[in-house]
Amino acid sequence: MKVNLLDFTLSELAEVTGLQPAYRVKQLFHGISSGLKVNEISVLPLNVRAELETFAVGVEIKESFKSVDGSEKYLYELSDGNIIEGVFMPHSYGNTLCVSTQVGCRMNCAFCASGIGGLVRNLTAGEILGQVIAVNRLKGGNKQNRQITNVVLMGSGEPLDNYDNVTKFLSLVSAEDGINISLRNISLSTCGLTENIIRLADDGFNVTLSVSLHATTDESRREIMPIANKYTIAQIVDAVKYYFNKTGRRIIFEYSMIKGKNLDYFDAVRLGRITKGYPCHVNLIMLNPVKEKDLNACSPKDAERFLDRLKENGVSATLRRSFGNDISGACGQLRRSRLGGKK
Ligand code: SAH
Repeated sequence: MKVNLLDFTLSELAEVTGLQPAYRVKQLFHGISSGLKVNEISVLPLNVRAELETFAVGVEIKESFKSVDGSEKYLYELSDGNIIEGVFMPHSYGNTLCVSTQVGCRMNCAFCASGIGGLVRNLTAGEILGQVIAVNRLKGGNKQNRQITNVVLMGSGEPLDNYDNVTKFLSLVSAEDGINISLRNISLSTCGLTENIIRLADDGFNVTLSVSLHATTDESRREIMPIANKYTIAQIVDAVKYYFNKTGRRIIFEYSMIKGKNLDYFDAVRLGRITKGYPCHVNLIMLNPVKEKDLNACSPKDAERFLDRLKENGVSATLRRSFGNDISGACGQLRRSRLGGKK
């Protein structure tokens, strides 16, 4: 695999490329942070650009699909030929990009397309950053004029199963000299790897932490999320309380509503207990269909009833609308992909 220039901080870039003097390294860093290819960075002399051609820069958008709701799905090609997916979502307050952190995923949740076929490999920091920079450019943005204001690590992969690359990505994407998206505007979603939740807090990455809960007992969680064999809900609650105490950030729980699985009266009562005593919020979403899986969404009526019951139990919760269903770009529908396939 080619070395990817987006993998590096400014000072590492100087070392890796051997470029001198320092202002040339800055010009390179600024150019690639705006989404330019090396040969497009016109402030660099031609011979310098030619020498840098041995490196890869970021990831390349190969295909895109537009949803009727305004969101867009992208297929990105990595330098080893793997294809990953991501989704752009326009909001009134800015534009959010959902990025992938792994090719495939090891977690194998019963409802999710990302784990089909298992984990292929981790993405590097530069491959995660490359998704943000490529879409920012596609939307007419550059380093100074950002068209992507928010990032969610909610595409394929388990971010905390790729800790080093993901935290390096967080440093790079929020670097003042780079695209400079604040950690406040970044959400990281995890199925609940508690040691790494604690590590993230200790390392000072104050992102919004989302935890995919989807069940209210360890037993029922194990039925749909194999990772529940390793971590209990009580351990998750301890870890997110720690995260809140260190970062001051309210915790988000993701709860996909699955017909006949996680929506009865007692689930609402238990969710009341799980979320008590620290600032947190539950995002309810309808289960999105994945053709290889046999779980179904509940009816809109069941969803409303569950939301009401949560409120009766003192839970702060909202029913979140889903983006990109018609382009298989909704939660749980992103996967390792191939070009030229059907959406
Ligand atoms: N691995 C991380 C990041 C994935 S984020 C995590 O587990 O949080 C994607 C979110 O969509 C997670 O909350 C995931 O549980 C949820 N999800 C997966 N499949 C889904 C489906 N079919 N319908 C709705 N949500 C789904």
